[in-house]
Amino acid sequence: MTEYTLVRSKRKTIALYIKDGKLSVKAPLKVSVIQIEASISEKQKWIERKINANIERKTNYGDVLSYDKFLYLGERIKPLKCKEKSFKIADGTLFIPEKYYGADGELTHDNNFQKSLKRYYKKIALSFLRNKMNQTALSADLKFSSFSLTNAKTKWGSCDVDNNVRLNWRLILLPMQLVDYVSVHELAHTVRHDHSREFWALVSMLYPEYKVAIKCLKEVGILTEYLR
Ligand SMILES: [Zn+2]
Repeated sequence: MTEYTLVRSKRKTIALYIKDGKLSVKAPLKVSVIQIEASISEKQKWIERKINANIERKTNYGDVLSYDKFLYLGERIKPLKCKEKSFKIADGTLFIPEKYYGADGELTHDNNFQKSLKRYYKKIALSFLRNKMNQTALSADLKFSSFSLTNAKTKWGSCDVDNNVRLNWRLILLPMQLVDYVSVHELAHTVRHDHSREFWALVSMLYPEYKVAIKCLKEVGILTEYLR
């Protein structure tokens, strides 16, 4: 039996979740442990698959999540100490101001560093993603009302009823094809504010490889969930 943490509450059904590679169970107040463990056994295959996927994603992106290694448009970029006062990305290199290095010459990965780097990423994401949305709209001959960034933990983008589009700043870390797909997806919502057949027909017209992109986004989903 997989180890699990149990939270009981006034709910009606048993629910299983995998978070951080661990199983947690939410159960109604009066359900017996035997019943709970029966539902776990029943879903054993699913649980193992989920846990393994979770661990694999963490191994692939753990160093990015802890700011030990860096990503830009899907590529790993090398950190390099510089005399400049601000961050800069150029030629596959992340130039890092020397104040973020300790006396031992090693990069400090403290909060201050992480916050500043995140601010820099957001700054470049704003202009990059805004341009991307404008280009996508232009070539699809569609219009959106406004563009802004989001820091959402579970979504790569959104489009509200007034056609205001928001894109997750972390898209700046992903390969261009995925940025393209998310832009197309949100733009298609300006025509259909749902995930109906008509919506997906429009998406596939604008971005035929959308199914591959959706699969890839699932693999990198960990970046929105855990990258603070
Ligand atoms: Zn959608």
